[in-house]
Amino acid sequence: MAETYQLFIDGKWRDGGDGETMAAVNPYNQEVWAHVPVASAGDVEEAIAAARRAFDTTWSKTSPGERARLLNKVADLLDADADRMALLETTDNGKVIRETQNQMGYAARIFRYYAAWADKMHGDVVPLDQKDTLDLAIREPYGVVACVTAWNSPVAILTNTLPAALAAGNCVILKPSEHASVTTLEVAKLCDKAGFPAGVVQVVTGAGDTGAALTGSKGIDKISFTGSPAVGRMISAAAGANLKPVTMELGGKSPNIVFDDADFDRALIGALAGIFGATGQTCIAGSRLLVQRGVYDRMVEGLAARAAQIRMGDPRLPETEMGTAANEPQFNKILSFIEAAKGDGARLAAGGKRADGPGLEKGFFIEPTIFADVRNDMKVAAEEIFGPVLSIIPFDEEEEAVQIANDTPYGLASGVWSQDINRCMRMMRAIKSGVVWVNTYRVAAPQAPFGGMKDSGFGRVRGEAGILEFMQTKTVFIDFSGDKRDPFSMKF
Ligand code: NAD
Repeated sequence: MAETYQLFIDGKWRDGGDGETMAAVNPYNQEVWAHVPVASAGDVEEAIAAARRAFDTTWSKTSPGERARLLNKVADLLDADADRMALLETTDNGKVIRETQNQMGYAARIFRYYAAWADKMHGDVVPLDQKDTLDLAIREPYGVVACVTAWNSPVAILTNTLPAALAAGNCVILKPSEHASVTTLEVAKLCDKAGFPAGVVQVVTGAGDTGAALTGSKGIDKISFTGSPAVGRMISAAAGANLKPVTMELGGKSPNIVFDDADFDRALIGALAGIFGATGQTCIAGSRLLVQRGVYDRMVEGLAARAAQIRMGDPRLPETEMGTAANEPQFNKILSFIEAAKGDGARLAAGGKRADGPGLEKGFFIEPTIFADVRNDMKVAAEEIFGPVLSIIPFDEEEEAVQIANDTPYGLASGVWSQDINRCMRMMRAIKSGVVWVNTYRVAAPQAPFGGMKDSGFGRVRGEAGILEFMQTKTVFIDFSGDKRDPFSMKF
């Protein structure tokens, strides 16, 4: 029987105020497998008020050591529950179990990583020209943080922000995507079990309206958003009207660049990982493969042959390599991009339609699709698809590769494949993206800062940068000169 979930507000589990719910649909068989509440504007306001109360009365007085203990406890609970959590996430968004399992372990590591930061945000004693004045630069949390997320990897995405924001001393209200809300509610259960005080971690589920009620509220002190540039713009505008700071983790159209001198087999695997890992439904997808002429035909043929062998099927089975599109609108969007590429004259080298075959009948499956001889101005190469559709673009010279790589509004990730260290260094400098992978692709670590340039966003998650994102600096001047100063001129 489909489980019915509840909102988590002020330490209590309860239905949405208007009694409305959304169906969680399993994209593998299109069955409704859970019901998720829709938070009303009133629920959102209650959550914001509870977060403020929790921050003022309890959480801002909680020691860093205690914050670390609670975060470590969540990590332990997540590890203990990883298999079930992975299965829930796979059921919700069709991502293969081998990756969701991997992501749960990674999420627990991020909780531990930020637990360790909680008592190390010690600020600075700043040397001044005024030698009889001591200056302390103190780091403080913002207070109430809203964290709105996308559907493709709900737990991994929320762990980009939740542990860091909590370690910094903030209260957090999570708003997951309406297309995959369940595991965010499950993480809140773990936080509840770990013993976080009421109002410190809360979840309001719902669609864009719920997100807008949250991020448009003057009661929020800081917003962290992971999603599309279109919604990012709306949230930035609302936050701007309220003068609230935002972190934006947005989309990408990342170039993965293979030079003639690359280790060919490794580059081919990297290209495959870049676009067919996570069914291409990942912000860092290497969706534009730029290949130098000397290895171009071999790469197109090699990738097409390997793509045709990708095992699609029940995403819950460990042998499945590629799962479904995560939901019906996304499925239709991907197919429409495939048709646009055909219409624009790109050469179809693999896939190109809905996948069928035994076990695939009811799922939102799309064949691993490769277009060769793509021009960078074709729609398939210019816009984010968020699906298993690769555009292969040939190039001759290094400068041309840089020009094509940067000829996009996005700047999230990129890959460079070459055995010439000097070239790798030049490329690493020349590409305008927040992440550059050299002779690898789709690698992440709790310690390594991550985020975009250009339309891919601003601000960083993970690493020290990730916790600084949730803190503001207070400067304290302490004058021990004993001087009677001129009151009509500022002291510099
Ligand atoms: P989306 O922008 O449609 O939705 C993201 C979230 O915003 C959802 O929770 C949604 O309900 C909410 N939302 C919608 N309208 C809103 C509004 N007006 N105000 C406030 N909230 C609102 O994105 P999506 O389809 O869920 O996710 C796909 C996008 O996310 C892609 O562009 C992908 O690249 C990006 N993404 C980026 C990262 C990253 O770390 N940079 C990670 C994952 C996904």
